[in-house]
Amino acid sequence: MAKQEQVDVLLAGGTVVTMDAAGTIIRDGAVAIRAGAIVAVGTAAELSKRYKATSVEDCTGQAIVPGLINGHAHIPMSLLRGIVADQQLDVWLFGYMFPVESRFVNADFVYHGSRLSCAEMIKGGTTSFVDMYFFEEEVARAADESGMRAICGQTVMKLPTPDAPNYDVGLERSRKFIEQWHTHERVIPAIAPHAPYTCNSDIYRTSAALAREYGVPLVTHLSETAREVQEAQELVGKSPIAYVADLDAFADKGIAAHCVHIDKNDMALLKQHNAGAVPCPTSNLKLASGVAKYSEMLKAGVNVGIGTDGPASNDDQDLWMEVHLAAILPKGVTGDPTVVTAKQAFMMATSMGARAVHLDHLVGSLEAGKRADIVIVDLGGLHITPAPSYRYNPDSIYNHLVYSARSGDVRHVMVDGKYLLRDRALLTLDEDEVRRNAIAIADQINQFLSEREVNLLDKILAVGGVKQQEIFEVQVKARLDNAAAVEQMLQSSGVTVTKASERTQYDSYFMFDDPQRGRVRYREDLRSDPGSRLEPKYNLTLTMPPTRGELPNAVVISRARYTAPADRSRRFYREYFAPDHVVEIEKQRRRWRILYGGEDFAVNLDTIATGPAQGVYLEIKSRSWSARDAEEKAALIGEMLALCGISEEHLLKQEYVDLAVSQ
Ligand SMILES: [Zn+2]
Repeated sequence: MAKQEQVDVLLAGGTVVTMDAAGTIIRDGAVAIRAGAIVAVGTAAELSKRYKATSVEDCTGQAIVPGLINGHAHIPMSLLRGIVADQQLDVWLFGYMFPVESRFVNADFVYHGSRLSCAEMIKGGTTSFVDMYFFEEEVARAADESGMRAICGQTVMKLPTPDAPNYDVGLERSRKFIEQWHTHERVIPAIAPHAPYTCNSDIYRTSAALAREYGVPLVTHLSETAREVQEAQELVGKSPIAYVADLDAFADKGIAAHCVHIDKNDMALLKQHNAGAVPCPTSNLKLASGVAKYSEMLKAGVNVGIGTDGPASNDDQDLWMEVHLAAILPKGVTGDPTVVTAKQAFMMATSMGARAVHLDHLVGSLEAGKRADIVIVDLGGLHITPAPSYRYNPDSIYNHLVYSARSGDVRHVMVDGKYLLRDRALLTLDEDEVRRNAIAIADQINQFLSEREVNLLDKILAVGGVKQQEIFEVQVKARLDNAAAVEQMLQSSGVTVTKASERTQYDSYFMFDDPQRGRVRYREDLRSDPGSRLEPKYNLTLTMPPTRGELPNAVVISRARYTAPADRSRRFYREYFAPDHVVEIEKQRRRWRILYGGEDFAVNLDTIATGPAQGVYLEIKSRSWSARDAEEKAALIGEMLALCGISEEHLLKQEYVDLAVSQ
């Protein structure tokens, strides 16, 4: 008998699903491992003869499969899972994720969030992941300590991020990170320009050059939503994929997350540049982005991987669920049950997924020479029984793995031949400690959000650019029968008009049952002076409940006002502030700034065409600074009202929105 060769581990007795090019499946198979690499794959009988193993793992009744590859994730966001759901992407991202991230994301957050995710992924049979986040060196550290294989992409955006006040700093940070990690065996650094809508061409070009210089991947989000694609067409005249391809982003190892809304030309570009496409089925569904064209991409020869995306939009990192969805969603969408077979879906998380993220020289299949990243799946669960009985069809094992198996069926996991999970117990991470640290950080975020959700000012501040004013104002309003009287008053000898304008104002008032919370006005202000062609202005104003005092002919109002430019849509703010009710008021406003009695006043002639507050109104207002000043101005207002022929009993002391509500 020939001398037996020594190996470290022999996995023997299960169904070996090799995911090699031929799709070899070996019943009663075995895998021999030495020095972290696979040295042989064959039948248990054959390999037990050839090899003497330091340790033999009996895998009878189990499947031996390549470690799963999560092709797109933001693993520290596990700390944000469950934080908000059922929102539009922009509300989710700009209303919640970015404000919370800008306040809480630091090295500590990233490290502990990453440990939580590594623990979850290992328990579910994921051995490699592609990440993109901030403070990526902490993701890299957690991945290294956990024993996982990872591509860690340092995120760059044109906006300030938690780890870079501007993108020059972000790019510099990325270079340092890559320099520090690019020789590591398991943890591969990468550069991750976030997306075309959060980056510019300079960021993509510089990132591509950096990726090429170090031979590391470039990870980015592309064509996630239909709106993103439409906006790119309007802005740059091409699809997001064509745009970044032209900026050289796919020159080396491109990884494009999502690719939900892509066409044949985009697919050809991905294939031509050997860039992987990584849809994230759950996230794409949950954020209502859509269903990627899996079968078309496969037909076009694109390397399709599969990802979980961040746990804040998924909300777990169970790759079995993603594989399951990648197989069944295309069937439902196309009406054809033959598209995307179980085997093809499983390839997305293994062999093809490895090609999509440029790790196929190391992992993705069980073949001699590859690293020993291996998962052993228990086939004894009731939901998976009677696997693997249907041997008449060798590929039936894929049906069990894709349509029945769940992360809880994973029994052992190894990376580089080293166990990270044995009999479902984590060996490189302390599960209780991981959980405790995660909860401690979540408690702080919860405190912040519970205060912010009630306090409208905090909510406005969270979306940026706020100016505060304390207003002390003398004002009066009257419903008019005869608008011509106002023009006559303006022409009278004591009045000097310093400025005149005309505009249409579309106001949405977001109102709350508790008036003490204040109210938020979203205003679209459109100049309509003859000849003026100005762009509409949008702003957001929070007014707190005023204190008011009555004077003859006027009221004095003092209140805090907070205004901010409104750079998002009315719909965004309505969903973000979640008011108890909304009041819409559209008015035509003719406005004059005048001097009367040596004082500055604003005179508004407002026409409200519809709704309960319908009518023509005169408003006279002036800023005031003291009680005496207010009294003097109220007296001057009285004189102007007299010039218009308005007597005190016709005065209104409410705002338009209150008139609209109270009638
Ligand atoms: Zn993502």
